[in-house]
Amino acid sequence: APTVGVLALQGDTAEHLRVLGGLGVPAVPVLRPEDLDRVDGLILPGGESTTMSKLAARYELVEPLRKHIGEGMPAYGTCAGMILLADRIVEGSADQETLGGLDVTVRRNAFGRQTESFEGRIDMDGLDGEPFDAVFIRAPWVESVGGGVRVLGQIAGGERAGRIVAVRQGGLLATSFHPELTGDPRIHRLFVDMVKGQA
Ligand code: GLN
Repeated sequence: APTVGVLALQGDTAEHLRVLGGLGVPAVPVLRPEDLDRVDGLILPGGESTTMSKLAARYELVEPLRKHIGEGMPAYGTCAGMILLADRIVEGSADQETLGGLDVTVRRNAFGRQTESFEGRIDMDGLDGEPFDAVFIRAPWVESVGGGVRVLGQIAGGERAGRIVAVRQGGLLATSFHPELTGDPRIHRLFVDMVKGQA
């Protein structure tokens, strides 16, 4: 079975490790560059993307992460993790550095103050069964996507209808929301299948 790493700089690393454990997938926290040599795929959790970027620099993880992602290591970013994977950010801090790899423009804190946190049902392309109950916490959305990026999920109704909240580009997956918080393992299972080369 493949081993999936979860970036452990900051954010909800433990929740992702718990979901992977529940699926019977070997999962380890990633905090040092050499940890990356032992994993077949990596989850970048939610949290605070500027803090995570700064910690990644301090732990000398920026170049190793870019190298592994550039060489095709599958990666899944949730919320702040999506921001880290994005090639471009709007509303970022001036000095905010991303890892990149995903040909999208992401808007940070896009949903605005009144709806900083909310839940919604997302009809996700590639998931069998019911729409996905998604929790958004000061979430970004994907403002625009490059040619190789598949949109997997959009907000269905209301004033944010059509906003893109889940994307995939080859081995890179990203969601604006937090599937590690709601007990539905389908997106983690999809990512594990991607790591196995089966999705
Ligand atoms: N607003 C956070 C950021 O910009 C992301 C929030 C989250 O990961 N829940 O980094």
